[in-house]
Amino acid sequence: MTATSTTINAADPLVARIDDLRRLRRAVILAHNYQLGEIQDLADFTGDSLELSRQAARTDAEVIVFCGVRFMAETAAVLSPDKLVLHPEPRAGCPLADMIAADELRALKGAHPGVPVVCYVNTSAEVKAESDCCCTSANAARVVEAMPGPEVIFVPDHNLGLWVQQHTSKRLLLWRGYCPTHNKITAEDVRRALEQHPEAEVIAHPECRPEVLDLAHQVLSTGGMIRRARETPARTVIVATELGIIHRLQKEAPDKRFLPVSRHAVCPNMKRITLEKVLWSLEDMSGQVQVPRDIAAGARRALDRMLEIG
Ligand code: SF4
Repeated sequence: MTATSTTINAADPLVARIDDLRRLRRAVILAHNYQLGEIQDLADFTGDSLELSRQAARTDAEVIVFCGVRFMAETAAVLSPDKLVLHPEPRAGCPLADMIAADELRALKGAHPGVPVVCYVNTSAEVKAESDCCCTSANAARVVEAMPGPEVIFVPDHNLGLWVQQHTSKRLLLWRGYCPTHNKITAEDVRRALEQHPEAEVIAHPECRPEVLDLAHQVLSTGGMIRRARETPARTVIVATELGIIHRLQKEAPDKRFLPVSRHAVCPNMKRITLEKVLWSLEDMSGQVQVPRDIAAGARRALDRMLEIG
């Protein structure tokens, strides 16, 4: 007689241990919409980076575990100075955010004295501290429009800047940063997907190339995509952004079909956070995020100004 073995779901004891530690540490776990599905399912809150940081600041948790990339964990630390922020994989950075350093921004400001600076939330705390105001992909045009004077320096995302330029009366001075993941999505990908699903609606994130945005029915932030998932009358939606969001969209509207426009749109940094790393971080309290006080104060000012504009 041959004995057979049964493999139980290996994730279960891991999740149970994380749950124990989450209670013990009085921690809240946040997951960005681009995280692996199992991390999104584990999280107390899932959303875009700013939405999550604001949510975390409102909870009475003592510890925030931020499952996303470094600038997001930094933003949470800036908005919650009385909480301990853990980033389970400190090497998970954002190449777009790393495309501009504070000294480069200082040089740009020196070349254009008096021109206000708007920085996308995908920037380091140091770059935020050098900026007049922060913005998200959802409110970028509104924030730019609210700045004084006819010109605005906009950093670091060039594609988002070009998109905003179409929706503002200001003249934008753009930095040439880009998201490598969104840049992998091509107009050819969109055309091919539409040939296969001519009835589908195409939604695209403004970090995509302009020629991709030209083909989209809706250009939306990740938060906007989640709302659209529930509201669209389309039964099939082609999604031009990082693949992780499909998990969330499918949960929001299980009766609809969400198809990634490209299988290549994967952010390797977002995928560096695993269940094991979340566990280790909570066990050892490792990956603590600290933002120097003066930089945090400057970044907070730029974030607060954005929140005032709305
Ligand atoms: S998807 Fe792009 S913008 Fe978002 S974290 Fe990855 S590299 Fe940065």
